Amino acid sequence: MKAVVADPLGGPENLKLVDLPKPAPGDGQALVKIAAIGVNFIDVYFRTGLYKAPETPVLLGSEAAGVIEAVGPNCSFRPGQRVAYTLARGSYAEYAVVPQSQLVELPDTVTFEQGAAVMLQGMTAHYLARSTFPLQPGQTCLVHAAAGGVGLLLVQIAKICGATVIGTVSTEDKAQLATRHGADHIVLYTQTDFAAAVKQFTSNAGLEVVYDSVGRATFLQSLDCLKPRGMMVSFGNSSGAVDPIQPLLLSQKGSLFLTRPTLANYIADSNELRWRSSDLFHWIAAGRLEVRIHRAYPLADAGQAHRDLEARATSGKLLLIP
Ligand code: NDP
Repeated sequence: MKAVVADPLGGPENLKLVDLPKPAPGDGQALVKIAAIGVNFIDVYFRTGLYKAPETPVLLGSEAAGVIEAVGPNCSFRPGQRVAYTLARGSYAEYAVVPQSQLVELPDTVTFEQGAAVMLQGMTAHYLARSTFPLQPGQTCLVHAAAGGVGLLLVQIAKICGATVIGTVSTEDKAQLATRHGADHIVLYTQTDFAAAVKQFTSNAGLEVVYDSVGRATFLQSLDCLKPRGMMVSFGNSSGAVDPIQPLLLSQKGSLFLTRPTLANYIADSNELRWRSSDLFHWIAAGRLEVRIHRAYPLADAGQAHRDLEARATSGKLLLIP
């Protein structure tokens, strides 16, 4: 089967399309014939080595949708079922073996492309807005990179929760897109001091929560957007990893809470995985959640997809089609 590996670790030019043996499902596993693959920033981190993988060369990809072709012993799924999954690495391929605990059935109302687009970024947006800081009507949140993959989904889910949403973006086109997906206020954070803009939008009150995927470039200023006892949710490193801080800073900025969550801890329980994915699938079927596909690339063009993602040239989801 065809698969994309990072060999050696480094830039997008190191992504290579290779032939690997088709894997066989073991105990409690299913072999998925992949129809659509989600591209995520985490793939960039495995490609560069920021996140460590045990195997060489490194298999890329953490999200896909497709059809079960075969199952191993003690697997409750059956051949022919449409499924989607995330956090089982090696999805930049024609086939993948996936533990049944990570698979969810895809309803007929959700396409393979939508399924591959929401398992990682959609469930992330879901856990951020529903669990890390469960948004309530009347509250206001800040969503950085609001036209990004997670961003566009988080804006919509925050609106489903009844919150007011302030989004940051780098361009006018992205501003329009985030607004179309429900953002109430937009700040062009490459041109404007976003903490000052937040103070203005909230009449100096500040926010209950900031959802920050950008990391190093926005972290400290994001703290200045919060109310006393507000929650700083630092969940990504698109501009680089956040530098260390003294806990005392949180006291000085108003007894703030700081969390650095990751999806794996919010879907480890199979009931949580099913709750989050079925909410997303219902919202998609009901027309309440729009899944914007920025572009679908052939599997062989994975390097170009990474270049576009890292260049801030994308809005919404990037897919690979094997
Ligand atoms: P995005 O589609 O959001 O792409 C990144 C966006 O970040 C860009 O489009 C850009 O938006 C903004 N950005 C700001 N500064 C930079 C920079 N220096 N370089 C590149 N982009 C920059 O990506 P994803 O939605 O896939 O992921 C966003 C972040 O969230 C990643 O760091 C990812 O690892 C993290 N994440 C974390 C999860 C978790 O559970 N903790 C799960 C999923 C994702 P603009 O042009 O508007 O500034």
